[in-house]
Amino acid sequence: MTTLMKETLSKSSIYMPTPARITAVRTFTQAEKMFKLELPSGFSLDHRPGQFVELSILGIGEAPISICSSPSRSNGHFELCVRSVGKLTEAMHRLGRGAVVGIRGPFGRPFPVENFRGKDVLFIAGGLGLAPRAP
Ligand SMILES: Cc1cc2nc3c(=O)[nH]c(=O)nc-3n(C[C@H](O)[C@H](O)[C@H](O)COP(=O)(O)OP(=O)(O)OC[C@H]3O[C@@H](n4cnc5c(N)ncnc54)[C@H](O)[C@@H]3O)c2cc1C
Repeated sequence: MTTLMKETLSKSSIYMPTPARITAVRTFTQAEKMFKLELPSGFSLDHRPGQFVELSILGIGEAPISICSSPSRSNGHFELCVRSVGKLTEAMHRLGRGAVVGIRGPFGRPFPVENFRGKDVLFIAGGLGLAPRAP
């Protein structure tokens, strides 16, 4: 898909999933995998820290998944850490490099990171929220 101007997903339609290709998969544990995804050329996720996307697989369904990569180091990619717990996430774990999934978003109220500038910041995370904290 090509467009002359860079288009953000939310501007195209919040209800229409945009196809994203899996470009890498890292297995963290039996239940958790990190997926690197790439949007079609001309599209950008344009997310802020703390937001999530709706991840869909045709014929399976959709689930909210947090974006765990930095918006400032995206380079056309973003990362999702997925714990296999049910229909959608188990199907996602069966996919590999080159597979295409649907992405809607970004959604959710972002962290006001501009207010943190110059201050000491304490990060507290639990469960899957720990994944983006890993080096
Ligand atoms: C804002 C937000 C961000 C999130 N971020 C992430 C993230 O980064 N990574 C991540 O992995 N998850 C994340 N989640 C959680 C994820 O969206 C849910 O776990 C989602 O339900 C997974 O969809 P699924 O189709 O795989 O699971 P489902 O099939 O919907 O199952 C969900 C749970 O319900 C249980 N269940 C299903 N059917 C039944 C039944 N009939 N009876 C009893 N129990 C049942 C399953 O065993 C499972 O534990 C996030 C959720 C929210 C709201």
